[in-house]
Amino acid sequence: IIIFENIEKNFGSLKVLKGITGEIQSGEVVAVIGASGCGKSTLLRCFNRLERIDHGSLVVNGMELSQPNFQTQQLRQLRTQVGMVFQQFNLFPHLSVLENLTLAPRKVLGKTAKESAQIAGLYLEKVGLFDKASAYPEQLSGGQKQRVAIARSLCMNPQIMLFDEPTSALDPELVGEVLQVMQQLAAEGMTMVVVTHEMQFAKEVAHRVIFMDKGVVAEQGAAYEVITNPQSDRLRTFLSRLD
Ligand code: ATP
Ligand code: MG
Repeated sequence: IIIFENIEKNFGSLKVLKGITGEIQSGEVVAVIGASGCGKSTLLRCFNRLERIDHGSLVVNGMELSQPNFQTQQLRQLRTQVGMVFQQFNLFPHLSVLENLTLAPRKVLGKTAKESAQIAGLYLEKVGLFDKASAYPEQLSGGQKQRVAIARSLCMNPQIMLFDEPTSALDPELVGEVLQVMQQLAAEGMTMVVVTHEMQFAKEVAHRVIFMDKGVVAEQGAAYEVITNPQSDRLRTFLSRLD
């Protein structure tokens, strides 16, 4: 569903991705781990073309994102197929929860207000926030905001969900409720790429782990194996520093 080969990304003279190869299969949950600045967010942002790659090949849902004449039409299609959840929620503060959820389905997918409200209701129910439909983001806890952000993404019926440190901005006691929603999504077969520092989640929910170090994939494999039995010194050092 995502196939990337030897992708490189530079910001000016800074080489951030230095030839990354791999693939994400349908229904797979892949955790991306690694030290700050190693390129995790950049890699994730390439997957929905928030960043353009400088070299290599990147195919998402059959679309080659590196082709120079990539069309606006394809970009719109890509953005509906690939949902993204950020560390900082990125909800619209002046819109209610329901309005946050129905905006894109109405504007981008052309759904009616009624249709989109129905779908929004389903996903709010799913993340346990049906009763918050008319609340505004500032009235919600961090965990609730993040669950709204996930529900908002799901309203577009994406085939792939990208998560960039979805729990890093949360108070520790709120992390669990968000991970639980993600775990449920994973169990339902959603294809997910998750940048995370939650090793418990990576070990128990992810199928595969990609460990990045300074712009390259330093180690990858079955999640439980990689985390409980790291092969490289770099990964051993990284894991030992976490706790
Ligand atoms: P963290 O764990 O801190 O989120 P990360 O692994 O996600 O780190 P990236 O955000 O991918 O790291 O950044 C990788 C490198 O690229 C960093 O050195 C960062 O400063 C640089 N970088 C990222 N985005 C840009 C940009 N838009 N312009 C210039 N440099 C950038
Ligand atoms: Mg990052």
